Amino acid sequence: MSMAPPENGDQRHLVIVGAGCAGVELAFSARSGGWIGPITLLGDEGLQPYHRPPLSKGYLAGEAVLETLHLKTKEAYAKARIGYLGSARVLAVDRPGRAVHIADGTRLGYDKLAFATGGRARRLPCCNDVPHATNVFYLRTIADVDQIRAMFTQGKRLAIIGGGYVGLEVAAVARKMGLDVTVMEAAPRVLARVTAPEISAFYERVHRDAGVRLLTGFQVGDFVLSGDKSRVEGIEGGDGLCIDCDLVIVGIGLTPETDLAAAAGISVDDGILVREDMLTSDEDVLAIGDCTRFESKLYGRSLRLESVPNALEQARQAAATLCGKPTRPESVPWFWSDQYDLQLKMVGLSQGYDRVVMRGSASENSFSAFYVQGERVLAVDTVNRPLEFMLSKKLVGERLRVDWECLADDGVPLKTLLSTAAVA
Ligand code: FAD
Repeated sequence: MSMAPPENGDQRHLVIVGAGCAGVELAFSARSGGWIGPITLLGDEGLQPYHRPPLSKGYLAGEAVLETLHLKTKEAYAKARIGYLGSARVLAVDRPGRAVHIADGTRLGYDKLAFATGGRARRLPCCNDVPHATNVFYLRTIADVDQIRAMFTQGKRLAIIGGGYVGLEVAAVARKMGLDVTVMEAAPRVLARVTAPEISAFYERVHRDAGVRLLTGFQVGDFVLSGDKSRVEGIEGGDGLCIDCDLVIVGIGLTPETDLAAAAGISVDDGILVREDMLTSDEDVLAIGDCTRFESKLYGRSLRLESVPNALEQARQAAATLCGKPTRPESVPWFWSDQYDLQLKMVGLSQGYDRVVMRGSASENSFSAFYVQGERVLAVDTVNRPLEFMLSKKLVGERLRVDWECLADDGVPLKTLLSTAAVA
């Protein structure tokens, strides 16, 4: 559903809660799409809105300075007439009164409201027992990384809990900086939730070759504390193994930030529930980005995605809805991760595949893995193959059917295969 398009002199106020990439994209897309009235973007990190992915990559490594992380320049906000309040934590939403309550006591009225509240790092249950430890970190914000970086010096013993993307990216940076790194993963392999065993095995080999101590099937037991309980000095595994450490980084996923919406009576179920037009259970309230859950027509099930491309797509859809434009087709999810000199780009969701077809050479760090279900390619992981990634977007998005034996033949260009492919 789309809304009535804005008309001349329309002074409806759009308020966006959360100034990550979803909130910022919505503000600018709504303005360029024809929203005439005031737009206010509310953030709570006290900073100019920034790109989050470099936090576990170039920014952690000290290769990228803060200014290069900004999503937009200050001038761009002024030019687009977007009011940005960077220290404006929203505490409550009064839907009958159509207003938000900000922590400084301000009450701000809205006509249309969008939640772009993202998520917070999932807490490790046992960390609640060590609330005062000064060397246990989560990694979600610039403030987190600034603290971590101060402790990132050569020879420090870093324990990373969680072998997902963030944990592995941090491990890669830390090894380059000369830290002694141990990664602890509870599952039997890294990246188990999102990739095939072949890809997990590849990344495990790469990290071990780089000197990372990688412990899979490792259940975190007790933390060994210093005498004054101010520091974690070791992490005990279920099997009695103890990993000594100087600092700990926990990367075990994300909890969507839905409390505000739930307290306002908006439907929430592990994510703010949105329709394809990004409207919530309230017709005047939208939600976008990491905080949402939606019914995917492409995958026939409910999804909650944590990625920049999804946040941007949903923001553009929300802007289209607000500006009375047609609903955009659902786009295929994609994601990237940089570790060492490996650029992993993934398109589609692989759950439910019955065969993995490998193409290229894992030993030369250049290959693609195709997740096939029947005749349909559900998803593709590409490592250092940007052209195959671009073509794979088409392959997955348009549900093209290709002969999987040809797919495995690196001598036949993927482009040639696609040109003769039929729809599955
Ligand atoms: P967020 O970026 O979480 O922004 C939400 C904002 O809302 C935050 O600033 C939050 O403080 C604010 N907020 C929340 N509640 C309130 C409130 N009540 N009042 C005011 N403000 C509020 N994705 C990729 O695609 N590729 C990558 O390589 C990649 N790497 C990543 C590396 C790291 C270390 C992290 C943490 C994430 C990474 N991601 C990556 C995920 C990606 O950053 C997120 O999917 C994306 O940031 C989601 O954008 P968002 O705007 O929905 O949420």
